[in-house]
This record gives sequence, structure tokens and C-alpha cells, in this order.
Amino acid sequence: MKNIAVFTSGGDAPGMNACIRAVVRAGIYYGLNVYGIVRGYAGMISGDIRKLESHSVSNIIQRGGTILKSARCEEFKTKEGRAKAYEQIRKHEIDGLVAIGGNGTFTGAQIFYEEYGIPTVGAPGTIDNDLYGTDYTIGFDTAVNTALDAIDKIRDTADSHDRVFFIEVMGRDSGYIALRSGIGGGAELVMIPERPNSIERVIETLRSGKFNSKTSSIVIVAEGEQIGNANSVAHQVRQELSELDIRVTTLGHIQRGGSPTALDRIIASRMGVAAVEGLLEGKKNVMAGIINNEIIYTPFIDTITKKKPLLQDLLRMLPILRI
Ligand code: ATP
Repeated sequence: MKNIAVFTSGGDAPGMNACIRAVVRAGIYYGLNVYGIVRGYAGMISGDIRKLESHSVSNIIQRGGTILKSARCEEFKTKEGRAKAYEQIRKHEIDGLVAIGGNGTFTGAQIFYEEYGIPTVGAPGTIDNDLYGTDYTIGFDTAVNTALDAIDKIRDTADSHDRVFFIEVMGRDSGYIALRSGIGGGAELVMIPERPNSIERVIETLRSGKFNSKTSSIVIVAEGEQIGNANSVAHQVRQELSELDIRVTTLGHIQRGGSPTALDRIIASRMGVAAVEGLLEGKKNVMAGIINNEIIYTPFIDTITKKKPLLQDLLRMLPILRI
């Protein structure tokens, strides 16, 4: 293997830059030429591919977003699109790829290997932490800390005005951000897509909080919550508990941005180095994740098809901690 290329794909996540830096520096350390593909699969198709040097990734470890840009690319889902991408990969004589992204990105890489035999090692880059094969994904810890910072600020005003706040955090299919920021932020209730909820249960919990003489409450709602988003849940609760002063805040895209936390920088660096070393060892179609603080390579097929279980211990603690 002489030439490798790195790209970021899917939703951006803080720490992707730290991972790009690690891939470039590890590649150069091991004597490889490293290319950067701009805008993920879209750049692979259009040939937006640049050689990266050690200095190309200077001063980026602390920056959010991704210097290589990210994109969603429908064309790569077609045979014709992938044929164009292969043309560019061949033209640049690229022997291996490092893909930083989520399940969609790994699905594309798996198909690309089956068609053209270009090996990919992935690094899990998504704020949702919903990838099987790693305890943490790149960007998750920063997103949780950003949510926590906002929750702390909202708690001040909730407390001063005796209000109930419904705070919506990111997570279309996954409750990881909600659960962790809910525990860290001292929420009364956390509503996540993986666990069936009912509006009656929410009302009952808030009522009991009121009877326990709590004057303010925080409810964290993951955006993919099945009974509705934060606005809709708050609306339904208002019908029953009209005496409560209920407010809603949707945190939105601030959770994707900002300087990555120490944890995100360190796991991103470890995963980036592991991805290059994996390619050099002949690994293909695997994701370099971290389980119990060790690098573990998990086949894409498992990251794509298997569901990562939620930490049951966090779920179990919620009713204990809100008493
Ligand atoms: P996130 O978790 O942040 O959404 P992701 O990697 O899952 O990240 P997607 O938008 O699902 O994000 O996928 C990224 C890109 O991967 C797509 O835009 C597309 O180019 C490619 N991709 C996804 N699914 C396929 C597929 N079935 N075949 C080929 N390419 C795919």
C-alpha cells in the first residue's frame, strides 16, 4: 500500500478534524502518501482529491466541523456514480480509504469494495453514538457537553421562575445524547425513541414532582421521541396540567458545533491512527472503534446491522435520582 485517502461523510461531528490529522500524520509516519477527498463521496465522484502533508493538518485538532467538508451524496448510491468514483480513485492510484462517518458511509464503502476491491477502514464519526462496535463515537461527548451547558443555563431560569422546561436534544433514532445529558443535567424525565413512553406517564411524573414540592423541572426529549417532539409533548402536557408554567427549548444544531472535548480529541486520534494501521495490516471493511478502552475492529456489516444497546444502568438510575 502506497497511497491512501481520507474523507468525512454524513453529518459533521466535533473531533472529525482530530481524526483527519491523526490519519494524515500516521500515514506519513508509515511512509504513505495521504490524500484528502473533499465533501465525502461527492468529492470522490467529482475528483476533488488533494494531497495532504503534515502541515496541512496543523492547528486543526481543536476545531469543530471538518476541514475536508462533509456531504450527503445520492449519486454514490447508484452504480454509475460509484463507477465515476472508482475512475478518480484509480487515477490517483489510491490503494486504501479511511472513511470517517456513520452507517450510511460504511454501507457505501462496503458496496464500493464489493464492486471495485478498494479496502476501507472506518472511524465512527457521528454525534449520535448509535454505532455498534464502539463505546463512543467521535463527536458524541462534545455534543453531550454542549447540551449540558445549555441545560445548566436553562435550569437557572427554570428555577427562578418555577417553570417546567421541555428541552429537545438531537437523536432521530437514538437516545444516547438525551440519556447522558439528562443524567448529567439532573433531568426529572428523559424521553428517548428506544423506550416506549406515554403522555400519561409524563404527566404522572410531573404531578408527583409537584407533590414532592418541586417548583421547577427539566424534561429532556430526544428529537426522535415517538409520542412527539418537545413542542408536541409540552402541548399535550399543558392540556392536563394547566397550572404549570411550561416552556420549550430546542437545542438544534449548536450540538454539532464547537471545539471538541478532550475525550473526543483523544478517541478521534486513536481511531485515526488505528484506521491507518488497520489498512497496513490488510484489514478491510471494518470500523476502528474503542470498547473498554481498547481498539477493536468491527466488520461494517455488524456496525450496519446490529443495534448498540443503551446503557441499562443509566435508565435504571433515572427514577432513583429524581425522587
Ligand atoms: P450520520 O450518522 O451522521 O447520518 P451517515 O454516514 O450514516 O452519518 P448518511 O447520510 O446516511 O450518513 O450516509 C452518508 C453517505 O453515504 C450518503 O450520502 C451516500 O453517499 C453514502 N451511502 C449511504 N447509503 C448508501 C448505500 N446504500 N449505497 C451507497 N452509498 C450509500
